[in-house]
Amino acid sequence: MKPYPHIFKPLDLGFTQLKNRVIMGSMHTGLEEAKNGYERMALYFQERAKGGVGLIITGGISPNLSGRVAPYSSQLSFPWQVKKHKIITDAVHEVADAKICLQILHAGRYGYHPLCAAPSRIKSPISPFTPRALSRLGVYKTIQDFANCANLAKKSGYDGIEIMGSEGYLINQFVAPKTNHRKDKYGGDIHNRIRFPLEIINAIRKKVGKQFIIIFRLSMLDLIDQGSTWDEIVIFAKELEAHGVNLINTGIGWHEARVPTIATMVPRASFTWVTEKLKKDVNIPLITTNRINTPDVIEDILLNKQADMVCMARPFLADPYFLQKAANDNAKSINTCISCNQACLDHVFKQKIASCLVNPKACHETEFSHKQATVKRSFAVVGAGPAGLSFAIEAAELGHSVTLYERNHEIGGQFNIAKEIPGKEEFKETLRYFNYQIEKLNITIQLNTEVKAENLINQFDEIIIATGIRPRIPSIEGADLSHVLTYQDVLWHKKPVGKSVALIGAGGIGFDTAEFLAHDPNKLPTSLDKPAFYKEWGIDIHYNHRGAITNKKAEMSHRQIYLLQRKASKLGKGLGKTTGWIHRQSLNDKGVDMIGGVEYQKITKEGLHISINGKQQLLEVDNIVLCAGQLSNNELYEELKAKNQPVHIIGGAHLAVEIDAKRAINDGVRLAHKLT
Ligand code: FAD
Ligand code: NAP
Ligand code: SF4
Repeated sequence: MKPYPHIFKPLDLGFTQLKNRVIMGSMHTGLEEAKNGYERMALYFQERAKGGVGLIITGGISPNLSGRVAPYSSQLSFPWQVKKHKIITDAVHEVADAKICLQILHAGRYGYHPLCAAPSRIKSPISPFTPRALSRLGVYKTIQDFANCANLAKKSGYDGIEIMGSEGYLINQFVAPKTNHRKDKYGGDIHNRIRFPLEIINAIRKKVGKQFIIIFRLSMLDLIDQGSTWDEIVIFAKELEAHGVNLINTGIGWHEARVPTIATMVPRASFTWVTEKLKKDVNIPLITTNRINTPDVIEDILLNKQADMVCMARPFLADPYFLQKAANDNAKSINTCISCNQACLDHVFKQKIASCLVNPKACHETEFSHKQATVKRSFAVVGAGPAGLSFAIEAAELGHSVTLYERNHEIGGQFNIAKEIPGKEEFKETLRYFNYQIEKLNITIQLNTEVKAENLINQFDEIIIATGIRPRIPSIEGADLSHVLTYQDVLWHKKPVGKSVALIGAGGIGFDTAEFLAHDPNKLPTSLDKPAFYKEWGIDIHYNHRGAITNKKAEMSHRQIYLLQRKASKLGKGLGKTTGWIHRQSLNDKGVDMIGGVEYQKITKEGLHISINGKQQLLEVDNIVLCAGQLSNNELYEELKAKNQPVHIIGGAHLAVEIDAKRAINDGVRLAHKLT
């Protein structure tokens, strides 16, 4: 039997067929506004089409000036713009049966510029700009702008469009009572509030005809107070079907919602229940979304008829060949998206081109050659952390001979510690992928081998040092006492920790260690337990409240935890742009005491002596855990360099400050190409 039969069952839309049940969802990458962005996007999308995805949806494109997400964001309003979109559609259509739709997104009050417009003059909590309320004429013109944009999309060769009606953007702002206070026919009861999107669909159909895919992204869970009720969503969905929408996609959570919806601590497929709930009310195919990242999860959803299709975005950044690998029954070879957001969403929010932590080539396809090395060289790689592993795999893929040395009994470096944190279980997938590639590419690996300079001298064409980091031990009196532990002692060596603990250092690792210590080790982490996740974040799965949001009930930590830093600024300020708030909220809800502006004085057997604003105090704790940053392990590199060996250094060994897996993997992949 063919693997994943439900995934690879075509979907007939009458006038056209989709070759399988997986959509690459809309995701802004920053290429839309970059130099040569359309050429780069063409390659980026073409690569995903070659990987077998049935239908691609572009990043959101505004139908007019006021709808732009930011002042320089993309817009499709003029016939002269068709030419550049054709670069994309032609590239995708070179691949047999590949299809691509343009997403039309009007940001409404989320527009980060003074021209933004909304149903009512109500500022959003995530933008400094107060929108102007659209006049009746403004509403009419916006509807025409959507229709014009769809028509231009058709002329550009797109197979259809997706209308962005969720995540709290303009259309969603019309539908929800929170943001629609209008007194005209576009405000008031649900029938009036959905008039705007329905008129958009009518206007679009009139322009593009019947043989053009229209997908509507419907907010099935607003996750804000005064969002839609379930009954309103059903009314709206039925009207969407009656107005000729071909597919309904699922939207989860407004951008201003304080509920994690796609981050790694969200259990897989946590929101599929809401798509399933709608299935009995409409006949057109429904697409489900959010935290779906493996073929098994997709197949399960389809098999159980929870949805007709599945939409994923980030997993196609991580691995463009996701579906091809699934079709070949080789799911273990997929480079799985770990939902970290570090190189995709965090980049976009910082106005940088998106990429992927586990696949730095994503959105940078033009910078890498697929050509095999003409001269096969021998490389020694010391250290099988993310940096060494990514170098080894890339170099072997390019045709070189690689010997990888690791002093531990397993590969992974600090990723082995990261995966211990509740909510970071997905990191295991990256280790599975690395292990698979080592075997497939015949990389010689020597575990339990602490390499010395003399083992390497004059043995290889090039030596790559990826020996990572060691924890910094701050020079605080008493730091050598036995109840003082490093984060590695706690997370890796599982040394026992008492009922009260102070953490010195509140960077990413301090936060993660606090999360680890706040959990009861005898209970499932919430990231693996959907009911616990819904409870912790107040998601009302019975839909008794507007927006499906209710009171949060996090489990309090079973330990007294102090998380400390010397800086007076807010703790966790340097954490990921799109995930930092989740880490802060999570620790806060568990009762962790987060204190800044701390001066460490000494450690005694009684605890940690600190002073805050000159006021002395003793934190009477059983243990002190050091999470005070890291230092490079670069001695081997210095020794080899001094002996004139052809040596290179990457990852944390090169620079410990702010080292993360994104930089480590990027270093490894790029050096492999540089040495080819
Ligand atoms: P390392 O991972 O330190 O690997 C170095 C390897 O070299 C080790 O396996 C070591 O045993 C080996 N080695 C050293 N010397 C020798 C020798 N002489 N001979 C043989 N082998 C040797 N990063 C993120 O991007 N996102 C996160 O969410 C994240 N969470 C984290 C959570 C925790 C709790 C921790 C501890 C780290 C986290 N990180 C995260 C950081 C990330 O894991 C590191 O930045 C990354 O592992 C650095 O990779 P590296 O290859 O440079 O070094
Ligand atoms: P970090 O982010 O640099 O934080 C180090 C912490 O230690 C800071 O809070 C710092 O705060 C404190 N510190 C530094 N020197 C000190 C000293 N001499 N004495 C006492 N305190 C000191 O480093 P990290 O937490 O070790 O994390 C390492 C890297 O891993 C990070 O750069 C991060 O990118 C990555 N990581 C990422 C994630 C993620 O979720 N994205 C999670 C974990 C780790 P003060 O100087 O104010 O005291
Ligand atoms: Fe997934 Fe992280 Fe890559 Fe984004 S950066 S696609 S979340 S693995």
